[in-house]
Amino acid sequence: MTAFGGIFGIHNHAASDAAGLAVIVLVIIWLALVYWTFADARRRIDEPILIGFATLVSLVPFIGTIIYMIVRPPEYLADVRERSLEIQAAEVRIAQFGTHTCPHCDYDVQQDFLRCPNCLRRLREPCVSCGKPLASDWKICPYCETDRGIDPALVRRQRRSRRDPQETMVAPPPSDLI
Ligand SMILES: [Zn+2]
Ligand SMILES: [Zn+2]
Repeated sequence: MTAFGGIFGIHNHAASDAAGLAVIVLVIIWLALVYWTFADARRRIDEPILIGFATLVSLVPFIGTIIYMIVRPPEYLADVRERSLEIQAAEVRIAQFGTHTCPHCDYDVQQDFLRCPNCLRRLREPCVSCGKPLASDWKICPYCETDRGIDPALVRRQRRSRRDPQETMVAPPPSDLI
């Protein structure tokens, strides 16, 4: 280009230099846009094939990137994931603290109620060991692992011996005396 400009004198020489510079700037901007499209697509799209397709479209100088910006997903993947986690956490909170109804009278009760405050019927049994409310079909207490088939007196004795082994040796529990 400079050799071509040299034939027509200094003015043309400078003009062709400026044109060359403009082309270089445009190519740099175009390459930057291609990279930007690729990086942006990676943050918004899960499918590698679609990311590749978006990058391919952006190879059409400038127009490709504009088209990509029109059709790209509106949200970042990270935001979508964060929101779905928040929804999950909210659902767990609702399940934990939400109210249930009494199976006998449909009164609003909470999950850990032992007895319905309206019809006074038994809803859950307290654990013999730790006192936490247990559903009738649970085989063990999920809080303290006490087997629910075990005699309450035996459980009390086990707890006592776990706390202070010497106490049970000195004073045997009342059930042994019977
Ligand atoms: Zn009830
Ligand atoms: Zn328990």
